[in-house]
Amino acid sequence: MSNREVIVPLNALPAPRDTFARPMRDLRISVMDRCNFRCPYCMPRETFHEQYRFLGSHERLSFDEIVRLARLFVQLGVRKLRLTGGEPLLRANLPDLVGDLTTIPGVEDVALTTNGVLLARYASELKAAGLKRVTVSLDSLDAGVFARMSGGFGGVDEVLAGIEQARRAELTPVKINAVVQRGVNDHTVLELVERFRGTGVIVRFIEYMDVGNRRGGIHLVGVAAVLRRLLACAPVIGRRTLHLPVRHPRHQPARCPARRRER
Ligand code: SF4
Repeated sequence: MSNREVIVPLNALPAPRDTFARPMRDLRISVMDRCNFRCPYCMPRETFHEQYRFLGSHERLSFDEIVRLARLFVQLGVRKLRLTGGEPLLRANLPDLVGDLTTIPGVEDVALTTNGVLLARYASELKAAGLKRVTVSLDSLDAGVFARMSGGFGGVDEVLAGIEQARRAELTPVKINAVVQRGVNDHTVLELVERFRGTGVIVRFIEYMDVGNRRGGIHLVGVAAVLRRLLACAPVIGRRTLHLPVRHPRHQPARCPARRRER
C-alpha cells in the first residue's frame, strides 16, 4: 500500500442509495444456480439441458464467503437478506447458512424464495434456524398448466404441501408469486386468489418478463389486465385488498366471462 492510500471503514461511508434516493436495505443472495424446475421463461430446457454446465460445488460462494459478504453489506445499510437461486433448497445444509446469517448484528430479517417442492421437508428446520418468511413461486393450481410452466417438473400437490408446512412452522406471512402469461395461465389467476382467500397467504401476480427468450412479449399480460379480470369475477375481493387506486380508468372492472355465461 502506498503512503497516500487510506482505508476507510465501510460503516464510515454514507449508505448507498438507489436512483430514487432510497437507502438500499435489501440484499438478495443466490446460493444455488441449479433448479429442479425448467420454467420456460427462466431455464428453458433447450438451453438448460442435461449437459448444461452448472457451477461445481467448489465454484459457488462458500457459506463463510456469503456470511462475510453479508456482514460487509450490513455495514453499508442492508437490513434484510433474501436467499434465492436457482432453487435455494437444493443447496445442502441451507439451515446452517440461515443460522449464521441471523446472528449478524444489524440483520433484521432473513427470508427465502423457493419453488416450494422441497419446502415441506425443510420448513421446520429453517424456522428453527431463524428464517422469518418464505415466498413460494406458484403459477397455477391447474396441474396441466403448472406442468407446462415448470417444464414438466414438480407437482402442485408438493408445492401446496410446502406452503401448508411453512404456515404451520410460522414462516409467515407466506407469499405466493405467480408469473402471469397470456394464453398460458392468465385464465387461472382467480382460482389462485380463491384458494388462498382468508388463509393469510398473500398471492401476488408478477408481470411476465421475456428475459433472454426473445419471444417479442407475446405472453405479456399487463397488471391492469390481471386486476380487471379479478375485479370482474370477484368484486367482493374489493379495491382495498387489491391496493387499487380509486377509480383509476385503467382499473375499471371488465365484464366477467364466467358470469356472462351464468346468465
Ligand atoms: S422455479 Fe424459479 S429458478 Fe427454477 S426454473 Fe422456475 S423460475 Fe427459474
